[in-house]
Amino acid sequence: MLVVMKHGATPSQVGAVVQTIEELGYRARPMPGRQRTTVGLVGNDGRVDAARLDSLDGVLRVIHVSQPYKQVSREWWPDDTVIELMNGVRIGGGEVVVMAGPCAVESEAQILTTARRVRDAGATVLRGGAFKPRTSPYSFQGLGEDGLRLLAGAREETGLAVVTEALDPQGVELVAEYADIIQIGARSMQNYSLLRAAGRAGKPVLLKRGMSATIKELLLAAEYIVFEGEPRVILCERGVRSFDDHARNLLDLTAIVSVKELSHLPIIADPSHGTGARSKVSPMARAAIAAGADGIIVEVHPDPPSAVSDGAQSLTPDQFDRLMREIEPIAQAIGRSIAVPKEVLAGR
Ligand code: PEP
Ligand code: MN
Repeated sequence: MLVVMKHGATPSQVGAVVQTIEELGYRARPMPGRQRTTVGLVGNDGRVDAARLDSLDGVLRVIHVSQPYKQVSREWWPDDTVIELMNGVRIGGGEVVVMAGPCAVESEAQILTTARRVRDAGATVLRGGAFKPRTSPYSFQGLGEDGLRLLAGAREETGLAVVTEALDPQGVELVAEYADIIQIGARSMQNYSLLRAAGRAGKPVLLKRGMSATIKELLLAAEYIVFEGEPRVILCERGVRSFDDHARNLLDLTAIVSVKELSHLPIIADPSHGTGARSKVSPMARAAIAAGADGIIVEVHPDPPSAVSDGAQSLTPDQFDRLMREIEPIAQAIGRSIAVPKEVLAGR
């Protein structure tokens, strides 16, 4: 439920609304806007007597949010959420953000070489897993904290922001110490204790769609994170299971459009996991940007055949250079541009 205050409502009138909501046993979330303040009632509001709020001084109207997810819905907040990273890059505004890097951090040389190449090509966020969710327990599980340290070193040298995955609630704090964005992987999208921990860690969260999750389930997962106090959630379409095995997954481009209609949160696309094959990554990256994605996350490896994970879907640095040149005019055609880091902007 949303209580919309009249233009010019006083702080004490807003305070009275907050107090009434709390007396009713709910949490109140005041949201000052450009025109007027709105106070959100957080919780299952089915039995709330709207008349009690409607009649308070300074209240313009009370709106029921019809979706099961509340705070992430467009009904709750009509403007696009824009998330600013430590390097000045903004996700969810007019710019398209490119995140790139290996599937897993393997060594200092590997992550530094990749970071330099993707930065030179125009990426602004470095990806790389230090804790890897692997289908088999015998597969490489990641370098752990050593991998996080290597990512932080690459950030230091290149100015790229870092996104990396947290696998479990106990690991979130450690990842948050090093990362600029905490990634929640597809396999963890409905790990609710992990979502809650990520929502309390004080860092933006990249939430990947589960491979069999509906958009409603994705948005409800995001709601867990926002409910815990972290509004900076970036959604990610990374492909879903399909009846057809011609590609690893089915990258659902309509999801980008649907999410934009239903939610104010930014959404990016992962054409690497979404297709599973190097030859398909760049075409689907281009298509995702044309469909309105706020960014892409792409696996790049200096020597894909030697990659410990996801080599078959990793672009070479040269292929990534080409992709970066291709997407600029696509972004421009729909009135957007590719995000560039602050220091590059300053030098222009
Ligand atoms: C990854 O980003 O390397 C990854 C494991 O992705 P997903 O969770 O989408 O499978
Ligand atoms: Mn991967």
